[in-house]
Amino acid sequence: FGTPYDEIYVDDAFVPEKEARLSVLANAVSYGTGTFEGVRALWNPGQQELYLLEAGAHYVRMGRSARILGLDLPHGPGHLVGVTAELLRRNGVRGDAYVRPLLLQAGEQLAVRMHDSGTRLYIAATPMPGDYIDRRGVRCAVSTWRRAVDTTVPGRAKVTGGYVGPSLAKSEAIRNGFDEAIMLTADGYVAEATTSNILLRTGRDWATPSPADDILDGITRRLVARLLGELAGAAVTERRVHRSELYACDEALLCGTAALVAPVVEVDGRRVGDGRPGEATLAVQSALDAISRRRDPRHPEWTTPVYGG
Ligand code: PMP
Repeated sequence: FGTPYDEIYVDDAFVPEKEARLSVLANAVSYGTGTFEGVRALWNPGQQELYLLEAGAHYVRMGRSARILGLDLPHGPGHLVGVTAELLRRNGVRGDAYVRPLLLQAGEQLAVRMHDSGTRLYIAATPMPGDYIDRRGVRCAVSTWRRAVDTTVPGRAKVTGGYVGPSLAKSEAIRNGFDEAIMLTADGYVAEATTSNILLRTGRDWATPSPADDILDGITRRLVARLLGELAGAAVTERRVHRSELYACDEALLCGTAALVAPVVEVDGRRVGDGRPGEATLAVQSALDAISRRRDPRHPEWTTPVYGG
């Protein structure tokens, strides 16, 4: 990610990024009591147009995360998609970008509670430069850190404090020489990677864990499942996935808003398939990239033009 663009949206106003500050005493800083999203904006140089990918779905999920926390997201998804497009226009964004909406418990009472504490809504954006598409594949390790259970920090809500576990897992994986961590549920089933969901193929059977396994119900995951059906004739089953399936599968991929689609080539020292990115994975990876920029005419309903083309 690059340096944030100059303007940020804060509670119905656009302000210079330097003025969008939160007190160190805000409750969210101490207690992780907030919710956030990550939205992609993808640039099409030929059309000179920027597209938001499934932005409405991200704000629907943010509304649900807020309800789980008992916070009030002040606007509906349609309005917030409009605000996001305006933010990108005001910043003159002409290139791939990442948008970070944040709803934080902004009261400074230093009180551990969710009620009566005031919220603030920020939407910031940063450039997302470089070739982020991973065509070589990632080497994963199953983490010793597990996903939080729904009765502690609900995984279906994208809660700021919920990223302590994934942060620990990611650093453990990197320090041990891997690229990414795969986290198991508290009872030992496959959940997801630190900021992406996992799908795996054994023979013709594509499977992915379900939200009942404490994962974030990823938006990219739904798009990928749809494209696997359209491009490879595959049906993806949401079900419990055992750890040993990671070692025995023929193909695996991670998907999320930031990484889009990344092939998994190794898990805990075992090659996935023949150790090279899977064919269906690469096909879905390029299709999703092209669809996200409307270089491919399929699924225009997944994208929203920012400049109005
Ligand atoms: N799981 C976690 C824990 C995540 O943070 C993300 C990124 N939002 C995902 C999965 C992927 O979800 P999405 O495709 O909606 O970005």
